[in-house]
Amino acid sequence: MNKQYQFWFCVGSQDLYGEECLRNVAEHAQAMVKEINDSGDLPFPLVYKPILITAEMIHRTFKEAGEDDTCAGVITWMHTFSPAKSWIKGLQANTKPLMHLHTQFNEAIPYDDIDMDFMNENQSAHGGREYGHIVSRMGLARKVIAGHWRNEGVRRRIASWMRTAVGIVESSRLRVMRVADNMRNVAVTEGDKVEAQLKFGWEVDAWPVTELAHAVAAVSASDTNALVDEYYDTYDIILDGRDKDEFRRHVAVQAQIELGFERFLKEKNYHAIVTHFDDLGTLQQLPGLAIQRLMSKGYGFGAEGDWKTAAMVRLMKLMTADIKNAKGTSMLEDYTYHLVPGQEGILQAHMLEICPSLASGKPAIRCQPLTMGNREDPARLVFTSKTGPGVAVSLIDLGTRFRLIVAGVDCLANEKPMPKLPVATVFWKPQPDFTTGVEAWILAGGAHHTAFSYDLTVEQMVDWAEHMGIEALVIDQHTTLRTFKQEILLGNAVYR
Ligand code: MN
Repeated sequence: MNKQYQFWFCVGSQDLYGEECLRNVAEHAQAMVKEINDSGDLPFPLVYKPILITAEMIHRTFKEAGEDDTCAGVITWMHTFSPAKSWIKGLQANTKPLMHLHTQFNEAIPYDDIDMDFMNENQSAHGGREYGHIVSRMGLARKVIAGHWRNEGVRRRIASWMRTAVGIVESSRLRVMRVADNMRNVAVTEGDKVEAQLKFGWEVDAWPVTELAHAVAAVSASDTNALVDEYYDTYDIILDGRDKDEFRRHVAVQAQIELGFERFLKEKNYHAIVTHFDDLGTLQQLPGLAIQRLMSKGYGFGAEGDWKTAAMVRLMKLMTADIKNAKGTSMLEDYTYHLVPGQEGILQAHMLEICPSLASGKPAIRCQPLTMGNREDPARLVFTSKTGPGVAVSLIDLGTRFRLIVAGVDCLANEKPMPKLPVATVFWKPQPDFTTGVEAWILAGGAHHTAFSYDLTVEQMVDWAEHMGIEALVIDQHTTLRTFKQEILLGNAVYR
């Protein structure tokens, strides 16, 4: 689903140390790129760029990176000292996510042989500080990763930042289709779409539900039947006592919606969609199974007109694309609490639309009544979800600015089955504990809708927000309410 992204590996030096030193710097950089690429540790390849020794070269390289659509980020490393004024023009021209890899070719000090030539050639400790100074003085967002380039943890962090960088570059081309407006009277799903385009690059457009309904009606019976066959092959069927032909007709309505919506989204070039149960036009059912399938194909989704969540789900899908053994990414909603002492947690669900990528086993299709939407009983996928840590984010509009709330959560197995609940669920315990996590979320103004992923971390989402120039409030195992309240006050002063 992603482009064939690459990351440019740009090494800084200068001509003060002579030809031999520069040759060594280039050899080292090329050897590192080759070894790291061959390791398969990174999700995207590094591309070696000629050693940067003058302001003109640095400027030209950043400009070329900006013009190259396959370049998702620039990774910089100061092998030797590189006077940082020569980086100013280039950094001013930079439009790509930036990383400062603060590493050194040699892991160990060669105690027996070390001389001044070695020191001059291997002075990242020195040159990296000069470079870091100018990036800080210019106030540019960048990721700093320090450590030896062969270290597993360092590579893991580079790999994880690469996915953040994809979230940053993809943000600028994200297009959200709004089918109907926000749910009446709801505050947190509202927001400034112009500001979102300025800040994140998102294009958020409204389309009449009648046009989508026409696209759905235009889907042929044979295409619909083929997709229903696929559903029956892929998922379990829980009839709940319904007639099996009547059940299949209900399922077919969702298959037709999936195909019609997907064709319309593709034709109009949108990557995320919102629906609203109060504005369904001639659609026979609230899109349930159809939306769940679209999410599993990588589309973003937000319910009740929540375009901010739809956009975040889409971005997080892109950030996690092609992860081996990915555990899943979806929109979720805080629904019901379990408040039994020692077992506290939040049951996450929605009326229908949870992405089956979260499922721990084979999802099943059920058709159950739904008062919301005032249409026939919608078919939906039900399942319980995987266990383990994940990250839940909520992007809110505070009127004058956006805030991203980023929460670490621990998903647990359901204590008992819930046979009468006809929706997919996740049960999680907020970090650092139920009381602190929930109280911090409320104080931060976090929404009831979240974009959630098992496959991303708090660090990745915070880095994304930092690059976008918005506040990120973190609720994780280090959170205490006293410092969290201070962070809110600090954010109010800093972000205006
Ligand atoms: Mn909702």
